[in-house]
Amino acid sequence: MTKFSREISDYVLQNKHRHEAFLQSLIKADTTDGSEDNGQTVWISRLRDLPCELDIFEPDPNRLSKYDEYNEGHVYVNRPNVVATFAGDGSGKSLILNGHMDTVFPGSLEKWSFPPWDATIQDGKMFGLGSCDMKAGLAALLLAMELICKLKIPLRGNVYLQSVVDEEAGGGNGTLACIDRGYTADAALVAEPTTLIPMSAHVGSVAFRVSFRGMACHSNMKWEGVNSIEKALPFLNRLRELEQKWQSERHHPLLPSPIISINTIDAGDGAVLLPASCIVEGNFTYLPGWDQSISEFTNELESAVAEDEWLSENPPVLQFLHNVKPYASNPQGSWPLCVEYGVSEILNKQIPVSGFPTGADARLLANIGNMPTIILGPGNIRRAHTENEFVELDQFHQSIELYAYIIANWAG
Ligand SMILES: [Zn+2]
Repeated sequence: MTKFSREISDYVLQNKHRHEAFLQSLIKADTTDGSEDNGQTVWISRLRDLPCELDIFEPDPNRLSKYDEYNEGHVYVNRPNVVATFAGDGSGKSLILNGHMDTVFPGSLEKWSFPPWDATIQDGKMFGLGSCDMKAGLAALLLAMELICKLKIPLRGNVYLQSVVDEEAGGGNGTLACIDRGYTADAALVAEPTTLIPMSAHVGSVAFRVSFRGMACHSNMKWEGVNSIEKALPFLNRLRELEQKWQSERHHPLLPSPIISINTIDAGDGAVLLPASCIVEGNFTYLPGWDQSISEFTNELESAVAEDEWLSENPPVLQFLHNVKPYASNPQGSWPLCVEYGVSEILNKQIPVSGFPTGADARLLANIGNMPTIILGPGNIRRAHTENEFVELDQFHQSIELYAYIIANWAG
């Protein structure tokens, strides 16, 4: 137990209103993908009062294009990352604290009971776009560092607090730009919503689009045309078999087995017309160490094509829309154990390190930055990207205390 634990918990108790007000100011800033600067302005003004050095920079696509996880086609004018360095005396272990400032778009506004940028508090919850994913976690990271500074808890290792842009739309370039700029540490924490369960792995996820061509005609004389939906079906059936095979043979102690899911089919112009095209979109997941899943998926399409004369002459077009790679850090390493210990001390329960069912920037810190990486944050990922998104305020306050305690133990 750190000698500061009493002071940390008293401080969090006494500053609840201030902390909620800061979270509200972040939610009230519209930071839908591309507009992150609204939130970074709020963020920077809070950091100006703290003893840290600020590095404010836009990701540079020219520098990032050398990484195979780089996402092409994104523009970063007025979309800065902000990294605040809190210097330690150099005798201890360093730490990266990472979160993304962008949110998804709110969808249909009528479905929101409270306006998405009002940050309404009701029944112990704060509602708003990005409240759960992930402004509560992001705010808590800064507030934990503010606490460390106010209580004068000495730092031995450097702490790098990163508020990054562009995680949601394909993802990753903001964090990738921090790594490329030289920010690495002995450990990293990403504050995505995990209901405060520490996680040291996540699945990989590939989104795909396959476009099948047919030939339209009146369907009463279908022999004169080609039905693109019927041409797609053998491939779709193969995918179901491939999913069953993956699920029966691929397991990971922290992660769910891989899935393949067809999520949209866009085809046809009417009930009595053969569809001239059929565009299938979906995604599949894969476990750490199973990169061959991508070629196995492609092979199924090639086999379906080889068995059909029309498809052989009119090959479907396969596009991968994104590939978020998986990662796994050793849950028995000193960093995960430090986090697990913090959780047991602050939350008073034993919660073993688990795995995250979806992708996050953690993979970049772990795979490219070579850092042991933990995902841990307030809020439930099931509330993310939904109308009436909210975060439980109790969990938000607990996360500030928990982060401060973990940072003090690791870098202090
Ligand atoms: Zn997120």
